[in-house]
Amino acid sequence: MADNLLANPIFHDEAAARTWFEKARWPEGPICPKCGSAKHYATKKVGVYRCAASTCRKDFTVMTGTVMERSHAKLTQWAAAFHLAASSKKGFSAHQLHRELGCQYNTAWFLHHRVMEAMRRGGLDTTTFMGGEGKVVEADETYFGKIEEAEQRTTKKDGRPFQNNRWSKAKRDKRVIVGLVERCGEVRTFHVPYAAKETVVDIVLNNIYRETRLHTDESGLYTRVGRKFAAHETVNHADKEYARGDVTTNTIEGYFGIFKRGMRGVYQHCAEKHLHRYLAEFDFRYNTRKISDMARTIEAVRGGEGKRLTYHQSSETGL
Ligand SMILES: [Zn+2]
Repeated sequence: MADNLLANPIFHDEAAARTWFEKARWPEGPICPKCGSAKHYATKKVGVYRCAASTCRKDFTVMTGTVMERSHAKLTQWAAAFHLAASSKKGFSAHQLHRELGCQYNTAWFLHHRVMEAMRRGGLDTTTFMGGEGKVVEADETYFGKIEEAEQRTTKKDGRPFQNNRWSKAKRDKRVIVGLVERCGEVRTFHVPYAAKETVVDIVLNNIYRETRLHTDESGLYTRVGRKFAAHETVNHADKEYARGDVTTNTIEGYFGIFKRGMRGVYQHCAEKHLHRYLAEFDFRYNTRKISDMARTIEAVRGGEGKRLTYHQSSETGL
C-alpha cells in the first residue's frame, strides 16, 4: 500500500478506523439512525450503541443505515476504499483496491461500488439549481462505450426509426451522457437512454436557473429550451468555431475528456446499468476539487448516510 496510507493508523488499526468514521459521521456524538435520538448507551460490544429513546431501543454502529451496512469488510478496508477513490485523480478501480488491500476481488468490487454510491448526489429533494444571474452554464452531450447488443436502439422511444444525422449508426450504438457545468462551479452528468430533445430539455430546465446564460454548441436539442434563459449563446463546431469571446463549451468538453480517459485507463468493463455510478464518482471529485484529499474523503463518508444498497453482489459481478 502507498506510503502515505501506511502512515495513518486509520488504514491499519481497526479501533482508530472506527473512531475516525464515528467522528466523520457524528461530529457531535452518535445519533440513532432509526429515530434520530442523540441519547444512547454504550453496550458491551465494541462500537455498538443502544438508542435510549424508550420507543426505539435500537442497537446501531457507525455502519448502520449507510452504504457500509451489513458488510463484513474491516473498517480499515472501508477507510482505504474511501480514501483511494476520493484522492485518485483519474479514477480508481476495484482491481487497484484488490491489489492495495490484498483482499478478494469480489470484496474490492463491493467496497468500490458502495463508495461510488456514497459519492452520488442525494435524492431529488436535495437538488439545488445551477447558475443564476451573471453566471454561465455550459451544456453538451457525449457518447461513451457501446450499449449492450440486445439493447441496441434502432427506433426512438415512440417507435419511429432514427433518421437525422445526430443518430448516425455510430452514435445509436453508444451510451449517451448529458453534462452541465457551471463556469468555475460544479458539474452534473446524466446517463440517459436517448439524446432525445425532451430528455435534454427536462435536464436543463430542472437543473439551471432561468437567469443563467446558457452556452451550447449549435445542436438543435437546445434551440427551443434556450429561449427560456437570460441568454442562449452558441458556438458553431461545424464551422470549427470553439470560442467566441467567453462563449464556449470547452469546460464541459474538457470534463468529458477527463471522464473518458479515466474510464479507459482504469475501468475495463463498465456495465451500462452502473454507468451513472461511475459518473457520480467523477462528478464528486470534480465538485470537491478545491478541498484537501482528506476533507474530500470525509465528505464521501458523509454522503453514504441513508444509502443502503439492496442489490445482491454476486448477481452484479457475475462472480
Ligand atoms: Zn432510536
